[in-house]
Amino acid sequence: MSHKKLRQGLIETCIAMNESGLNQGTSGNLSHRIEGGMLITPTSMPYDQMKNDDIVEMAFDGTVTGKHRPSSEWRFHRDILRKRSDVNVVLHTHSVYCTTLATHGRGIPSFHYMVAVAGGTDIRCAPYACFGTQELSTVALEALKDRTACLLGHHGLIVLAETYEKAMWRAIEIETLAKMYVHALAIGEPPHLSEKEMAQVIEQMRRMAYGDAPDLDKVKDTPKLPVARSASVAPDTKAEKPARQYPKALKVKVTVKSPANSATKLAPVQGTVAGKAVAPKESAKTVAAPKAASPKTRSTKALATKATTPAKKTIASKKKATTEAAPVATGSAATSFKSLVGSALSRRK
Ligand SMILES: [Zn+2]
Repeated sequence: MSHKKLRQGLIETCIAMNESGLNQGTSGNLSHRIEGGMLITPTSMPYDQMKNDDIVEMAFDGTVTGKHRPSSEWRFHRDILRKRSDVNVVLHTHSVYCTTLATHGRGIPSFHYMVAVAGGTDIRCAPYACFGTQELSTVALEALKDRTACLLGHHGLIVLAETYEKAMWRAIEIETLAKMYVHALAIGEPPHLSEKEMAQVIEQMRRMAYGDAPDLDKVKDTPKLPVARSASVAPDTKAEKPARQYPKALKVKVTVKSPANSATKLAPVQGTVAGKAVAPKESAKTVAAPKAASPKTRSTKALATKATTPAKKTIASKKKATTEAAPVATGSAATSFKSLVGSALSRRK
């Protein structure tokens, strides 16, 4: 069986979702990018009964391989993975506090600086659309623009990440934020951090992501690390060298396999399970990852969305899913998965 570690990681993540309280029963679902498609949870199967060969393999053209039908939400999983080459994992859950806000059509504003974990200055809520529909996929993609999470009106939460571990971490952080926001609302709408303040948070987080000390205010009172490491993280000074350059887009050389006529094969054969289906004839080529939106771009746009206003205005436009080729999975295998998720979960307790 192919993708053994990814299948195992998918099952372990689903179980961790339920054990952490993020998910109840079989309502959530999870997918991971593979070459030309995705692995996704089967529909209506208890996670603790799931085996590696119960995981459904689905090509982006809709061809399904496996014993079961894919999750009823395969459309948004497929559309997100096809459009968002910056992520490998799509996690969906009806976590209680995120869903509580979503039943009011409310997103999570910048009431707390950690909303930046979703990539911007707020976490939007997509307008309601029936589960399993193309319409839901469309509004979700719109709400996820420049973000790695969104709420779904009267429904739940979607989180995107590069790996299973990051998806669990991000989902727990966002559910915790939603819980704090619901509690804060009990004594009224809390003040929101300004656009400038959130821009600082995003810059601070970006520096840390690149291994620099969080020294936004330039006091240079940073930890004294061992010589080998401190050399690479010493504060930049104009006299010594130019400021560190943060790449805006990573040029990645990946092998892409795309069906010759992919543009006409976007609509999969609904519910078809072809046990020995063969993927369409594929050709290899090299592409560069699309340019990522810079945090500053995000911050200037995003504060316009107040949480008290349902996101309908900003998510009204309907866009067809694009047909760009998807990169190969970067292999977020499940090694040390348990310890990573374990530490994420222990922080929650
Ligand atoms: Zn759902």
